[in-house]
Order: sequence, then C-alpha cells, then structure tokens
Amino acid sequence: MSNRHAELGIDERPPEVGELTPPDRTLMGPGPSDVHPRVLRAMSTPLVGHLDPSFVEIMDEVQELLRYTFRTDNKWTIPVSGTGSASMEAAIGNLVEPGDTMLVPTNGYFGGRMKSMAERAGGEVVEVSAPWGEPLDPVDLERAFAEHQPDVFGFVHAETSTGVLQPNVPELTDIAHDHDALVIADCVTSLGGVELRVDEWGVDVAYSGPQKCLSCPPGASPLTLNDRAMDKVLDREERPRSWYLDLSLLEGYWGDDRSYHHTAPITNVYALREALRLVAEEGIEERWARHRRVAGDLKAGLQDLGLEMNAPDEYWLPSLNAVRVPDGVDDGAVIDRLLDEYDLEIASGLGALEGDIWRIGCMGYSARPKNVEYVLAALEDALARQGFDG
Ligand SMILES: *Cc1c(COP(=O)(O)O)cnc(C)c1O
Repeated sequence: MSNRHAELGIDERPPEVGELTPPDRTLMGPGPSDVHPRVLRAMSTPLVGHLDPSFVEIMDEVQELLRYTFRTDNKWTIPVSGTGSASMEAAIGNLVEPGDTMLVPTNGYFGGRMKSMAERAGGEVVEVSAPWGEPLDPVDLERAFAEHQPDVFGFVHAETSTGVLQPNVPELTDIAHDHDALVIADCVTSLGGVELRVDEWGVDVAYSGPQKCLSCPPGASPLTLNDRAMDKVLDREERPRSWYLDLSLLEGYWGDDRSYHHTAPITNVYALREALRLVAEEGIEERWARHRRVAGDLKAGLQDLGLEMNAPDEYWLPSLNAVRVPDGVDDGAVIDRLLDEYDLEIASGLGALEGDIWRIGCMGYSARPKNVEYVLAALEDALARQGFDG
C-alpha cells in the first residue's frame, strides 16, 4: 500500500496543523453576531446522550423558552438541527405539497430562496412584487391573492439583504386567512431583536436562526407551527421530499414520544438554551427596546458621518442597518480596512444591492453601545482614507 502511495507521490506524513487560534473579531455583519460568554461556557459543558432523561428536560426548557421568545403558545415549537435555512426548508418543504401554490415576495434575497425551496417541494410559485428596499404593500398582496388563490403565503419579516422591516404584519395575515391560505414568516433577523408576536399577529408558521439576534452559534434553528399548519402537515397525501426535515417524523422526537429520529446537536441545544435564558432574563420587550435604542444611536452616528440609510425611516430594521456606499468610495476597501485594522466585520450588499450598500448588523450581544462607538470610529477612519469627508 505504502509502496503504491510512494509510486503515486502521496505524502504519508500526517498534516501539520497548528492550534486553533481564530482572530478576536467584533461581529457587526448580517450574522453571526458576537456570542455572549455565557453561551460559549454552556457549549463547553459535558455531553449527555440525546435521549438522556436530563436532556429530555433540557428539550422541554428550550421549547418553553422558544415559545416565550416567539410570543406563542404553539405546541409545535422546536429547534431544527441545522442553520436558519434548515428551519426555512422544514417550514416550506412540509407546508407545500406538490400541486400547491405558494406566493412569495420579490423584494429581497431571501424571498428568492423561498421560491427555490417551494419549487423543489413540488409547488407552483407565484410572486407578489415590491422593489428591493421596500416592504410589501397590502394592496398588492390582496391583488395577488385574488389573481392566484395561493395555498401558502411566505414573507420575510426582516429582510437582511435590504435592511427593511415589513410593517403591518396582521394586515398581511388577515388577507391570507380571508383566502384560506397559511402564512409562513421568515423571522431569522427579527426573532429576539425586533417586535414579533406570532400568535397575536396570526402567523401560522415562523422560522428563525440562532446566530442573528439570539447571538448564539449557528446549528439549532427555531421553528414554530400552529395547529392549523401542523394539521396540514399531518394530512399530506405525499410525504415531504426530505426525510431529515419531515416534521411528522420529528414529531416523534420533539413531541410526546421522545423516540430516536436523528441525534440532536446537543451542544447547540445547550447554547440555544443559554441564549434564550438571556432573552428571558432581559425580558423580550426590553430586548426589542434595547435593539431600537442602540441601533438608533448607530443610525444617527452613520448619518452624522454623512452616510445615507438604504431604507426609509418607517421601514428601518434596527437589527440590520443597510447604508448606501457614497459615490467614489470603494466598498470592498472599507470592509477590508475594518477587518484588517480593527478586527471588525461588516458586510457588503447581496444580490441586486451588491456594491451599493454596506450591511451593519446590530444584533443580540453585538447590540451594545461599545460596539456602536467602535464601528463608527473605525468607519470614520476608513472613509477618510478614501477621501470621503461627509
Ligand atoms: C441568514 C438568513 C437566512 C438563512 O439562515 P442561515 O443560517 O444562513 O442558513 C434566512 N433568511 C434570512 C432573512 C436571513 O437573514
């Protein structure tokens, strides 16, 4: 064997890889956000089996904390194993059956991802239009419903690609329910950061991710469904195309049976539990208020530097501040300088807004006055180097 390796020129020595020493960044991009030290500590506690009685108790606590954070009484409230896209695909892949029609928005990057997932689920996809950088207009939604009669309507509550917060959620859900459709809300960048009331607002299914406003590493992603949505899932004629994300099977693990489906990411569940405990300690409404307060200072500071926000004030999304790149400034050079000189991460625009905006997150543990001061000072320096003086 080793002769053959030698013949082929394959190196037999073990790779020399040094100790893990990631740089100490300040994370002010679109996620992940800075992780609270208590969450990191929770992640270094010992592993137990995923069916251990002590873990079953932890599962119950996580579900209870998730209900509090989503503002819901939904029994079907679980962390899905995987990143936000996994909870997103669980929602869409289970709700949309072949032959169903799903209505999705065109006003940002993540509406496009909803479309791809609904198509893969075998759904017919129709669109409700709004320009990138604007929210959906209920009048357009009513028109789209009248024209297409969709079975499922998806929208993005906090569009991370444009920095736009969708207002009037209850108006949108009323329109959908008048047409007997179920509503899926993408709450990845809103859960735990901006006001979200799943039950009061009539949202049937909401999904999120842990690494944005919950300031938890990615890996276990919140999902909640009301009984009406779960009835549709359990009444499907054809099984969902994904075995891993089939909610009728996951019901066996997260529901009353607690039977094996797949091994839960134990450490990520610990992390989520601690991150949600921090939400409960702060109080969800105070947490929303803090994001508005701290991000409000960030927005004011950006405007003082002579920069312009991408979204009008009425739709401003505190957890994701999209800022226009001024004429003559190289957006990438600014991002590089912040990273190289300040260990500070912000992001460029995505999709249609690439090169036009910077995206500055203000999420969870990153939503602190200290971080805001730091990002403003670093940006002032990077902009000055580009010859921009407001
Ligand atoms: C980040 C994000 C997602 C996807 O989450 P991942 O954790 O990257 O898989 C989905 N929707 C929105 C609005 C997001 O910001």
